[in-house]
Amino acid sequence: MHSSFDAIIIGAGHNGLVTACYLAREGWKVLVLERRYIVGGACVTEEVFPGFKVSTAAYVNSLFRKEIVADLRLRDYGYEVLERNPSSFSPFPDGRYLLLGPDADLNHREISKFSRKDADNYPRYEAMLERVAAVIEPTLTMSPPNLQRPRLGDLWNLFQLGRAFRRLGPAMSEATEILTGAARPILDRWFESEQLKATLATDAVIGAMAAPSMPGTAYVLFHHVMGETNGKRGVWGYVRGGMGGLTQALAKAAKDLSVDIRCNADVSQILANGGAVRGVALANGDEYQAPVVASNADACVTFTKLLDAGQLPPEFAAAVERINYDSASLKINVALAELPNFRACPMATDSGQFAGQQHRGTIHICPDLDTIERAFDDAKYGRPSQQPILECTIPSAVDPTVAPPGKHLMSMFIQYAPYKLRGENGKAVSWDQLRDGFADRCFDLLNEYAPNFKGSVLDRQVLTPLDLERTFNLTGGNIFQGSMSLHQLFFNRPVPGYANYRTPIRGLYLCGSAAHPGGGVMGAAGRNAAREILRKG
Ligand SMILES: Cc1cc2nc3c(=O)[nH]c(=O)nc-3n(C[C@H](O)[C@H](O)[C@H](O)COP(=O)(O)OP(=O)(O)OC[C@H]3O[C@@H](n4cnc5c(N)ncnc54)[C@H](O)[C@@H]3O)c2cc1C
Repeated sequence: MHSSFDAIIIGAGHNGLVTACYLAREGWKVLVLERRYIVGGACVTEEVFPGFKVSTAAYVNSLFRKEIVADLRLRDYGYEVLERNPSSFSPFPDGRYLLLGPDADLNHREISKFSRKDADNYPRYEAMLERVAAVIEPTLTMSPPNLQRPRLGDLWNLFQLGRAFRRLGPAMSEATEILTGAARPILDRWFESEQLKATLATDAVIGAMAAPSMPGTAYVLFHHVMGETNGKRGVWGYVRGGMGGLTQALAKAAKDLSVDIRCNADVSQILANGGAVRGVALANGDEYQAPVVASNADACVTFTKLLDAGQLPPEFAAAVERINYDSASLKINVALAELPNFRACPMATDSGQFAGQQHRGTIHICPDLDTIERAFDDAKYGRPSQQPILECTIPSAVDPTVAPPGKHLMSMFIQYAPYKLRGENGKAVSWDQLRDGFADRCFDLLNEYAPNFKGSVLDRQVLTPLDLERTFNLTGGNIFQGSMSLHQLFFNRPVPGYANYRTPIRGLYLCGSAAHPGGGVMGAAGRNAAREILRKG
């Protein structure tokens, strides 16, 4: 079969859909090919358990760019974000707990339970992050300059960035530390309470194969404060109906713009001749022609699986080989008969149905920073953490549409579960063998904090890093399509010299989180890529 389009998008992740919409708005005839049965990539809602709307992978939203919501009128297509107040709840083994959220008075009261000094410092810490965000955030929507072959525009962008940095004045060194350093020394300097530091530090290691004492984690922490919910900075929310509420809205917008979206369409080859792209071939043999192809798949998939090595310059192929996909994230989705009743904050009634403030936000099961460090130590030697770090959310506590009446849904994001396992006594071991034992360990841990938890479990879905790779085609199970360390960010993402969404093959672009500004449900990569494609050349 030979069909012709102006552009083909490989993958219907949220970024691929964003690119498709922006091209179609300019009158382009666009085809989106998705290998799964459903659009959305890692930003998806699936009925994993009958009657439950499960956000299979990504589970909270804050980073998605508001200009895309406006441009594509996504609210008209049903996209709605529900705020979470409080936004986090951390129960501790000594029976105390910490709530944090958008309410400054609540934060002060809560942190004061552990340290009055930290409570006073907390707004200053947030203001410091805000100052740095004001400099960094504009870079999210720009195409990074090319330092290898700079043009006048690249030099101008660099100059502007330098000027913005200079405006930070004495805060410049702290900003540099945030971009390059470790989260732990920063948190240790600002705060004394382990409870507060542990709660904040979990954001520094999400999706990272790193402990908070390791360089690069401060940026991961910072990456998580650059969003907003309904105009409120740094606030994370639930998408009504699960994260697929966003990608279904994008797909509807795309269809209204005449984008042709085809699921169960596994691209097996990018077709190129004489250094220029000419289309794609599917695993079933179908071929589609287009002078422009944008890949929403990660760089390893795009350049090593869909293209022949000989089609790429050797130095580019070598740079792709060096991309770090280390990962240690595991997700468990759980259907619950009732809400967890935490020892540290028992429910007013024991009916198990009425959500309290402890259920609305992210529930951190992590007593102190050293626990995270030790959990990472296991992963460093190729073992799943003995005492993992759990980040649980119960979207049904805020959005009743995601679970049947009276039932609840929990998402558990867990670290560290290293993709690369080291077997015992020379024997190889696979996640297919460890999956259930490790999930049981996580359940036992949560049960220590909420003793009714295990008894309330109706069903569970365990996604090890290997399952994430198999399901979403994420190399190494890396949730960000490549680690978010400085050498893989901005003008180095995906590789130096190619951060402007172009590739060595003319007409072939990257449009997903493998490109700047990286992972998270943000849409910026998709929008930036569309801008470059429309600029052409
Ligand atoms: C478990 C997990 C939890 C996360 N939690 C959050 C969170 O709470 N909040 C947040 O902001 N971010 C979170 N993230 C990160 C975020 O989900 C991703 O960074 C983001 O969704 C990536 O979007 P994307 O469009 O760039 O790529 P993807 O979502 O990876 O989409 C790529 C698409 O391309 C398709 N594809 C790949 N190869 C082919 C092929 N050969 N042919 C056809 N189609 C192909 C894939 O099937 C997929 O649909 C999480 C990620 C994971 C995995």
